[in-house]
Amino acid sequence: MKNKIFSKIPDYIAGKDINETKKLLGLKKVIKLASNENPYKTPKTLLKIFKKEFKNIYLYPNKDYPELREKLAEKLELNKENIILGNGSDEIIELVFKYLALQSKNFRVMLFFPTFHLYYILAKIYSAKIIKINLPNFEYDIKKIIKEINKKNVDLIVICNPNNPTGTYINEFNLKEILKRMSKKNIILIDEAYYNYVTALDFPNSVEIFKEFSKKTNLIITRTFSKIYGIAGLRLGYAFGNSEIIKMLNKLRMPFNVNSIAYKSALFLIDEEKFINKCEIKNYENKLFFYKELDKLNLEYKRSEANFIFIKLPIKAKDAFESLLKFGIIVRPIYGEGLDNYIRVTIGKLKEIKKFLRALKKII
Ligand code: PMP
Repeated sequence: MKNKIFSKIPDYIAGKDINETKKLLGLKKVIKLASNENPYKTPKTLLKIFKKEFKNIYLYPNKDYPELREKLAEKLELNKENIILGNGSDEIIELVFKYLALQSKNFRVMLFFPTFHLYYILAKIYSAKIIKINLPNFEYDIKKIIKEINKKNVDLIVICNPNNPTGTYINEFNLKEILKRMSKKNIILIDEAYYNYVTALDFPNSVEIFKEFSKKTNLIITRTFSKIYGIAGLRLGYAFGNSEIIKMLNKLRMPFNVNSIAYKSALFLIDEEKFINKCEIKNYENKLFFYKELDKLNLEYKRSEANFIFIKLPIKAKDAFESLLKFGIIVRPIYGEGLDNYIRVTIGKLKEIKKFLRALKKII
């Protein structure tokens, strides 16, 4: 076994588990503000769906998942051939890396820093050459991106929009400037895991942009049912893109990658607009409250278009994380490369944010 290869692949760092933390610290109540899950519990009516589907779970699902793809296509005004489902959007992101790795060894991927760490893990697994672009002041730098594109040596660009962990975003004008310079020879993957939370007026409408640019570019947009739809535990994501490329990705995915309970749940949740709207509004209101309180504490943070806030602390994030755990609060420390003082905190319910702020005041 060539272990050298494996030592180059970084581990995925997930938000700490609630039950593990309870056990470890002997705590009765622990809140998790570390993985950007929806704190407003998924509608109880979903239980009826589980019950109904129970009698069918001895069967494999339909491997083409037609109903949900049709429904998504209808909502997005696309065709079902433009849509692929994944076991979480993670899986679809991996399929894109796999697709490129099969075509050329050492393909080149443009990744930003800081961004969702999974892209770096996948780049290592699939032996991609990373073109790393730092985000000055945590914002996408369009000039730097265009400069790299002009060198014509990029096979894949992954843009997390809004970006995890910073909550910052690339606007419509700048995204179009990038797309104008792309061709069918490369792929641009836009990860919109948090797009439901966006309120910025200049945030790109990726469906319209896809329609405008799909003939000339390979644009793939991933989204998920893990965040605002509240079923992170069931694992279901989707993507839309050119039918030719979606067909290739479908060839690479395992059959039955989405389980039937997740599938039926998504079919139900996609029409739960009242629940989704409520969660969007709550997140926005709580975000404004959060900002106000952080301002009172004189803390630096980035304005966020997502359901989390990237905060700079006067102490090491690792120490803050450990101290907050003792108060029964899990946050996400960001490590390395000048980010040792930053944490990412999910915008939870108001009482959770208040609990976090009370504990934060005590530790800084
Ligand atoms: N993209 C981003 C930016 C994320 O933060 C996450 C969740 N951590 C994912 C994708 C993956 O989400 P899922 O696989 O649950 O759809």
